Amino acid sequence: MKTSEIMAKLQAKYPGENEYLQAVQEVLESVEGVYNQHPEFEQAKIVERMVEPDRIFTFRVTWVDDNGVVQTNTGYRVQFNSAIGPYKGGLRFHRAVTPSMLKFLGFEQTFKNALTTLPMGGAKGGSDFDPKGKSNDEIMRFCQAFMLELWQCIGPDQDIPAGDVGVGGREIGFLYGMYKKLARQYNTGVLTGKGQTWGGSILRPEATGFGALYFTQHLLHHAGKDIKGLKVALSGFGNVAWGAATKATQLGAKVVAISGPDGVCEIPDGITPEMIDYMLVMRASNRDKVEDMATRFPGQAKFTAGKKSWSVPCDVALPCAFQNELSEDDAKELKANGCWCCCEVSNMGCQPGAIHFFQNNGVLFAPGKAVNAGGVATSGLEMTQNASHISWSAEEVDAKLHYIMKSIHEQCVKYGMQPDGTIDYVKGANIAGFMKVATAMLEQGTV
Ligand code: GLU
Repeated sequence: MKTSEIMAKLQAKYPGENEYLQAVQEVLESVEGVYNQHPEFEQAKIVERMVEPDRIFTFRVTWVDDNGVVQTNTGYRVQFNSAIGPYKGGLRFHRAVTPSMLKFLGFEQTFKNALTTLPMGGAKGGSDFDPKGKSNDEIMRFCQAFMLELWQCIGPDQDIPAGDVGVGGREIGFLYGMYKKLARQYNTGVLTGKGQTWGGSILRPEATGFGALYFTQHLLHHAGKDIKGLKVALSGFGNVAWGAATKATQLGAKVVAISGPDGVCEIPDGITPEMIDYMLVMRASNRDKVEDMATRFPGQAKFTAGKKSWSVPCDVALPCAFQNELSEDDAKELKANGCWCCCEVSNMGCQPGAIHFFQNNGVLFAPGKAVNAGGVATSGLEMTQNASHISWSAEEVDAKLHYIMKSIHEQCVKYGMQPDGTIDYVKGANIAGFMKVATAMLEQGTV
């Protein structure tokens, strides 16, 4: 296969689907060499099949706001690939959601899930519903209307949604309540990220951030470094940033920046447990303003409007917010201010120019599909607990999460080892995930 030829065809077929094309390009560039050593992949047209989702459901979601006004949004579920297990991936509620965004996320999810060592295929879904400024009742009514359509497409052995940007424990609760009413079955395994008293895994809310820090620790140890005492700048203040801030602080690092769409909060003495708790309050308020942290903790957090976390001097940068949130210019500014490691926690958080800059300028870099896989891995553990009607303790889940992140790091090292002894984590993660999915597709025939 030739990446350029496949990309030209996809660009002509899906013009303007920029995020999707970006995600495919990155994977194909990484796997081209390995792929071409396997004529059986080429014969079965594995790549041409793998870049297309199995199917996409699109539906209208109509609900009534607090003023009695009827509102209409669009809902989607992209079932991308089920070679190694049932479709699995989150739901994103954000005003910018498009089919292109969900196709990129579903594609990434396929490889990420393969890295977790657990049997899960890839999917993603969501809606252009904007949670910002919505009341709790509005969120509930939207979730119920969304599930009214989605429930026919999902099931514990078919497709298992979870949270993502704009969808946390509260939304999963509302979605599950409606699913249960429609299906007339207590199928706990149909959604993950549930409440702890009704089938949810202990540590699922923390898992993406905790897993990201375990991966970062392995990466640093492999490079002969330790996280203790390092300055960490992270972006966002949602669930993922909260988990990352919690674990980074526990491991002895100093979190010196968090951010939001409105700007950055610099925290020179490091984030405190009270501030970490306040991140949850900020998320639940649906205001989407990081400035609230500086208002609540004046003297400790300094807010600057319109700036990103990447302007704050740090050792380690952890993008935890949204795709393409870190540009090449941001990468240059980080490096100029002393940053020497970037672990992408958001899905495709760094623009291609930023990744190339990091890789060519001695900044350790690891991609989201390896770094953030602890979230979906813990979802996989939740599915196991649901299927066997048991509940594991926080210690048991944490130990399994640790083991999985270690194994993901090992896979990256195995497939990403360069002749000079350094690790190309992008290549490593892409090749490891690709080989697993491609082999399963080949063994299952032309379907
Ligand atoms: N949305 C998360 C991700 O990007 C978690 C998905 C899940 O738990 O299914 O991996």
